[in-house]
Amino acid sequence: MNETVSSTPSETLGFQAEVKQLLHLMIHSLYSNKEIFLRELVSNASDACDKLRFEAIDNAALLEGDGELAIRVDYDKAARTITISDNGIGLTRDEAIANLGTIARSGTKEFFSKLTGDKQKDAQLIGQFGVGFYSSFIVADKVTVITRRAGTPAEDAVRWESDGQGEFTIAAADKATRGTDVILHLRADEDELLSGWKLREILRRYSDHISLPIRMAKEEWDAEKNEQVKKEELETVNQANALWTRAKGDITDEQYKEFYKHVAHDYDDPLAWTHNRVEGRSEYTQLLYVPKHAPMDMWDRDGRRGVKLYVKRVFIMDDAEQLLPSYLRFVRGVIDSADLPLNVSREILQESRDVRAIREGSAKRILSLLEDMAENRKDDYVTFWNEFGQVLKEGTGEDSSNLERIAKLLRFASTNAGDDTQSVSLADYVSRMKEGQDKIYYVTGESYAAASNSPHLEIFRKKGIEVLLLWERVDEWMLSYLREFEGKSLVSVAKGGLDLDALADEEEKKRQADVQEEFKPLVERLKTALGDKVADVRVTLRLVDSPACVVVGQNDLSPNLLRMLKAAGQQAPDVKPTLEINPEHALVQRIRDAGDGDFSQWAELLLDQAMLAEGGQLSDPAGFVKRLNALLLKAA
Ligand code: ADP
Ligand code: MG
Repeated sequence: MNETVSSTPSETLGFQAEVKQLLHLMIHSLYSNKEIFLRELVSNASDACDKLRFEAIDNAALLEGDGELAIRVDYDKAARTITISDNGIGLTRDEAIANLGTIARSGTKEFFSKLTGDKQKDAQLIGQFGVGFYSSFIVADKVTVITRRAGTPAEDAVRWESDGQGEFTIAAADKATRGTDVILHLRADEDELLSGWKLREILRRYSDHISLPIRMAKEEWDAEKNEQVKKEELETVNQANALWTRAKGDITDEQYKEFYKHVAHDYDDPLAWTHNRVEGRSEYTQLLYVPKHAPMDMWDRDGRRGVKLYVKRVFIMDDAEQLLPSYLRFVRGVIDSADLPLNVSREILQESRDVRAIREGSAKRILSLLEDMAENRKDDYVTFWNEFGQVLKEGTGEDSSNLERIAKLLRFASTNAGDDTQSVSLADYVSRMKEGQDKIYYVTGESYAAASNSPHLEIFRKKGIEVLLLWERVDEWMLSYLREFEGKSLVSVAKGGLDLDALADEEEKKRQADVQEEFKPLVERLKTALGDKVADVRVTLRLVDSPACVVVGQNDLSPNLLRMLKAAGQQAPDVKPTLEINPEHALVQRIRDAGDGDFSQWAELLLDQAMLAEGGQLSDPAGFVKRLNALLLKAA
């Protein structure tokens, strides 16, 4: 042999800091559920075979004459090892260093910043992160990976090894067959895993859904040795057909859940799923899941999203985001098309009519699933809404064809409840509307506190009219699409021209007419004093406890939206507010009596405090403080 090959040295490298942390956390928090290591390794073996099959569509040579993809599980009692092998894509040296030494997933940083050091809380979090390859170290104190990338020569294989303490070694190796062997050297107490019976049990429980055969050696009882002994012959220990192609009645909930964990790389159970074979213009099978929690990367543009695409049971790609509208990007699962070509690319997906049909069909199925949950599994729907409500709201603008259905699924906080829980549907609201009320009222603010304390709510509280409270970023955008629900328009209470007449009784109407007259002089004086700082000044009966508020025209952008636009560095039109004053308020009456000397100070103070109560910013905060202090001193 050539010198240089045999003397290729092994190199020792450090794990990324996060990997060390993850390993430590995982070993301690997942020990009680340690058997999942096998599910994770089999899941990876299956993914590796999928990847090979996909690359081989364009490059059949990668199969090296062996197109029968399979996973092999074996154990060695004497050596105390378990080996999981696949003949999938394998890893190059660089890939092994990158994929088995770091965590490349987006959202990793956020995940680690959330860890508290409290074992129980962190144990919950780790479930959300997904565990993967590193879960091997729950049962093994040394892991050896021998792997060869398909299409590379036998002597280019790689040997990766680690005790999970912070470093790994990487060295050249020789491997006749392509793919990967993961060899677990078990920890001292894990001997019960060295049993064909035990391993079969774990595989059936967690990995039955894997569509490739998982093979193990047949065993028979050896009376002389008084134990099971392995035979040469192999047998398949799982059903080895694609789960979604089976009839629904033949699939248990447990199998659906385990399949979810594999496709979603999630440790937790899903919240709900829908499984259908669709026939007609376009033919496909869909098995779609709603997760229980948002992935770390849901708001990350490069995050994993979308579903796995298969064509006639052949894996085509992960994360096929074109198969679902973006507001359903939290959905995971598989879609298996009977119509798309095997060599379909992402570009083709974007234009294909079949894909459009799939996308529309999938959206409808998910909406049905959510409707069913909202109706029959209310607690689960609360979980869903808290995790994904903000994303679903995007659907109001993105999917106008389903606007009505999406509107019914929305949940809001309202003045009816005392806290920020979003649990009121538009239908609930409508069912509680007062006699004579024909509009759905809402208020937007920067936060729940800002919205729920808005002075605009005073009259509504007094009259017992419910108002929806909105404060999430997406809300203003949503409201520009969601203009009505069941024929009732959605109206902001912070806009002028609120027509509450229908809700006022005769006495109130008369009082309103009286104060208009009575306060005309004050209104005129305020207009003069405030000049072009306001669009108008008028008397209102919408206030109870506050002396004044600002409103914008029915067609103007709301102050909250203007603030958001400005914060985002966007051009925002200059909308002048209308000042509305409360004739019943002692302060307003005091101002009416103010002499000309103080009047302009009072006028500006009234406007500034109304702006502040709205959550707005003052153009001259220092001036406000000065005026306030001057008037306070006078009063003292
Ligand atoms: P995930 O499966 O969610 O990507 P894992 O921690 O399970 O995360 O695996 C990390 C990466 O290691 C995989 O994405 C893959 O690139 C690589 N890997 C793990 N096992 C195998 C295998 N048997 N064959 C090829 N690559 C593998
Ligand atoms: Mg994995």
